[in-house]
Amino acid sequence: MDRFDVIMVGAGSGGGVVAARLTENPDCKVLLIEAGPDFPREETIPPLFTVSGEHSWKTAAIPEFDWDFFNADRSGTLNGRQLWLPRGKLMGGTSMVNATIAARGAPFDFDRWASMGCSGWAWNDVLPYFIKIENDLDFGDQPIHGKDGPIVIQRYKPESWAPVNRVMYEACVELGIREAPDLNGLDAHAGVVGVMPHNRYKEVRLGTLVTYIRAARKRANLTLMAGAVAERVVLSGGRAEGVAYIGSDGKTATAYADQIVLSAGVYNTPAILQRSGIGPAEWLKPLGIDVAADLPVGKNLLDHPGFGMIFKGKGLGVTTGRSFVADVRGPGGPTGEPAWQTHPFPVDEEEGMAGFWTYLTHALAQGEVVIQSRDPRQAPLIDHRYNTVIQDRQNFDDARTFCKEMLASATFRRHGAEWVDDIDQPIAEALAERMGAAHHQAGTAKMGPADDPTAVVGTDLRVHGFDNLRVADTSIYPDNVQHNTNLTALVVGERAAEFVAAGLGR
Ligand SMILES: Cc1cc2nc3c(=O)[nH]c(=O)nc-3n(C[C@H](O)[C@H](O)[C@H](O)COP(=O)(O)OP(=O)(O)OC[C@H]3O[C@@H](n4cnc5c(N)ncnc54)[C@H](O)[C@@H]3O)c2cc1C
Repeated sequence: MDRFDVIMVGAGSGGGVVAARLTENPDCKVLLIEAGPDFPREETIPPLFTVSGEHSWKTAAIPEFDWDFFNADRSGTLNGRQLWLPRGKLMGGTSMVNATIAARGAPFDFDRWASMGCSGWAWNDVLPYFIKIENDLDFGDQPIHGKDGPIVIQRYKPESWAPVNRVMYEACVELGIREAPDLNGLDAHAGVVGVMPHNRYKEVRLGTLVTYIRAARKRANLTLMAGAVAERVVLSGGRAEGVAYIGSDGKTATAYADQIVLSAGVYNTPAILQRSGIGPAEWLKPLGIDVAADLPVGKNLLDHPGFGMIFKGKGLGVTTGRSFVADVRGPGGPTGEPAWQTHPFPVDEEEGMAGFWTYLTHALAQGEVVIQSRDPRQAPLIDHRYNTVIQDRQNFDDARTFCKEMLASATFRRHGAEWVDDIDQPIAEALAERMGAAHHQAGTAKMGPADDPTAVVGTDLRVHGFDNLRVADTSIYPDNVQHNTNLTALVVGERAAEFVAAGLGR
């Protein structure tokens, strides 16, 4: 029977970092269980992981690398549409299929986390880790930035942008929106237009497969087990003993370790915990699962819901050039936080069609992830309850009003821009027909103090009631960050590695 110091489940944004950092210590023996395939020589097959200027996220559509999850829409507020919820299923996880936007969470996000009882997670606590993970080619010399980390971050020059980005940027300037050269800067989180930072270098996406895991895979103390699906954590009292999994040969086995870390992502981490008997008793008992801890695992499912608005105009549909570059962040509300952000996207060159993609930075709708079976190969029920909260609709309506102002600007008028979508359609109806996910899901194993009935893990990421079982991925976000979620997941991984090492006494 194999025994390890640490078993990690999931080699994505959070898990890839934890495994790589822990194995820097040659005395720490780590098993990393990943359901998707591995690419041991990924440097030699770059086409799979390159991101040509305009198509950074298209790998998300490769079925072999996807979990094939859909939103259930039990409330019918999406007219019964089953929204696809892509998640990376490969070594590197969703960091290897995402759009490579390298946006940090905002300072007020982490200060809010601290005010929710997550002491040690305020902005000043997490900033050193944002610095540690990055090599910012534009601002690396500044005190809030780093230049020695594994993740290269850069902002592309307007000459290389798909044209609609330049037009939107200029329209925002015309409308008096402040320009923020660094969208990861301290004062760049509301009421600004700027250039999205990206984590790519020489057109290769810098997910954890090609950064952290590449650096770690040669170490003798790291065992990478690809194509193996973790079923559940084997528990004994207040301790986690091991992980039961289905190997790539289809056989069930169990591996054992002193410390166990789940980094299976926002949908699969709660599913594994629930199959292990950690979750709402009302959900587990009907499946015949003994309840080890009645914790709200799978609740508090958050996202940034998004909404596309299509227009057309001369030269606006040109699809070559970089996408996900110009970004406008809505005005700060009473707490200084914006309610939305918007970037343009080209659609069709021949028809001159393009769109604005707006997402809510702090949506109030909360959904849930509920296993339907003890079988890890069966997808959990995922219901985001999109379009169920009146305030969320109002915020979309405000964003739409701003988009109308942009299209009415002299800058867009010079291109003869006009709406294709019915831009005055009642907002609830328009959302039901067209809203989607921005894929920034979080929150299903919420961090918070043990006396918080909504919390699953403590501030050292240990599952409440268990000495040696942790979660390290986007599931632990107590509340969503304002912007894209990947960099924050890497920071969670960095911190988790320190907590686990301390738990091992190393
Ligand atoms: C299409 C798309 C575009 C995005 N664009 C951006 C962007 O541009 N910028 C940004 O910041 N964020 C973006 N995101 C979001 C961001 O990438 C994710 O929030 C982040 O990668 C999630 O990290 P994670 O560690 O929580 O999970 P993941 O990276 O999803 O890692 C989970 C890993 O666990 C594995 N796993 C799951 N279950 C099991 C099991 N039972 N057994 C073994 N292994 C298992 C999975 O295969 C996966 O490798 C995007 C997401 C998507 C889907």
